[in-house]
Amino acid sequence: MGNFLPNDLIRRLNERADFDSEAFLETHQTGDKITSIRLNPHKQQQSPFVRIKQVPWCTFGYYLEERPSFTLDPLYHAGCYYVQEASSMFIAHILEQLGLANSKIKALDLCAAPGGKSTLLNSYLGVESLLVSNEVIKARANILVDNINRWGTANVVVTNNDPSAFNRLPGYFDVLLVDAPCSGSGMFRKDQKAIDEWSSANVKLCSDRQKRILAESLSTLSTDGYLLYSTCSYSQEENEDIVDWVMDEFGFESVSIPVKADWGIEETHSPKHYAFGYRFYPHRVMGEGFFISVLKKRTSQSSFPKNKMRPEKSAISLYEAAKWVHPADIFFQFMHGDDLRIFPKAYMDDLRALQQVLYIKQAGTSLGKWTGRELLPSHDLACSIYIRTDLPSQELDLQTALKYLRKENLDRDHFTQTNTGWCLVRYEGVNLGWVKVLPNRVNNYYPKEVRIMNL
Ligand code: SAM
Repeated sequence: MGNFLPNDLIRRLNERADFDSEAFLETHQTGDKITSIRLNPHKQQQSPFVRIKQVPWCTFGYYLEERPSFTLDPLYHAGCYYVQEASSMFIAHILEQLGLANSKIKALDLCAAPGGKSTLLNSYLGVESLLVSNEVIKARANILVDNINRWGTANVVVTNNDPSAFNRLPGYFDVLLVDAPCSGSGMFRKDQKAIDEWSSANVKLCSDRQKRILAESLSTLSTDGYLLYSTCSYSQEENEDIVDWVMDEFGFESVSIPVKADWGIEETHSPKHYAFGYRFYPHRVMGEGFFISVLKKRTSQSSFPKNKMRPEKSAISLYEAAKWVHPADIFFQFMHGDDLRIFPKAYMDDLRALQQVLYIKQAGTSLGKWTGRELLPSHDLACSIYIRTDLPSQELDLQTALKYLRKENLDRDHFTQTNTGWCLVRYEGVNLGWVKVLPNRVNNYYPKEVRIMNL
């Protein structure tokens, strides 16, 4: 079979014991596309697509029969599921094996956009944990915000910082996920550009950058905290060699994660410290190329002094949140400009501490704009898993729901049963957003930045 993948990469992979280059090349040649989604445990679980089977290492992950037009599914826009490549869902299995599922910990996703692994961490760590989801590139941080808001939880802080900023929070996080920017060979089957742009020189460049990112941020992990290091590269220089380097320089030990033999995941060992790593090859798993390794911090780490803060008095009645969300007493409400927001009370001091050292793009969930007299409810509130279920609402059929998502005018006749005022619109029982019902028309409040185009 002709080799259309970079020779340098294939040569290096052939040096690995048991690497089946024929099968590897063939799977790239046939170009089979695998589509998988991960369901949001807090929202409607009935996506309209035919599911072939569950992703073996992720209870909320499913393979689909074919790749549908997600844009035409209102449940996609409502955050009922995330379209995610199956190999990276292995993080769910890792969290379960480490006993961290539904725990009460603080986690940092350092390279988080567009948010696939952040929404996974959020679902598996549960609503009692705190997730800081960071992305250094501003435009990508905006996409991350949209995906976090669709997911609907309130225990996430999205930040837009260089990794080095987290040095200001020594010993703060229990889990640090570094899903590092890499040379991207694991995406070859999906993305011709990744093939065209691959070079050994870029592998070296990525490996240097990965070391820099880790060196600048590892102090933010607590003693006994876990580092999850991952890439979508096949190159040892970006994977096992980085793990060896972390163990040499920063006092970490390797953690083994049990995997079932029939999952097809390859357990690897780093050349120097024999550290465990998990490789996903598309000819062996139903998923794309991926590498992940788990390390535990063994050095004693000084920690960030977190002072108890006195809550600022909010000018707005404490009962405002209770009109819109339930339960309301687990949150504190605060103003950001004229934006009224909620955030878990359990992490109030943490939020104030984070504010002192990071650039925060958003914390918790926006309830809406406070005009001084009333709240103009936000789209994020409509997507929140905490929004009250007894607010005025109107179910829409598929065609009308798509009209709504295109931000077109809706017919007043759809709302004859509804009083005038703010009204949620729903599809299959899931909130899509707000309209305002007036005596003779309906105003569509779907945000124009996320409206669907070109249908
Ligand atoms: N974790 C994401 C997910 O699952 O949706 C994918 C992350 S992607 C592999 C790597 C991310 O690192 C990109 O969003 C990229 O913008 C960011 N990045 C690029 N250069 C970086 C740097 N020098 N430091 C930190 N992050 C960087």
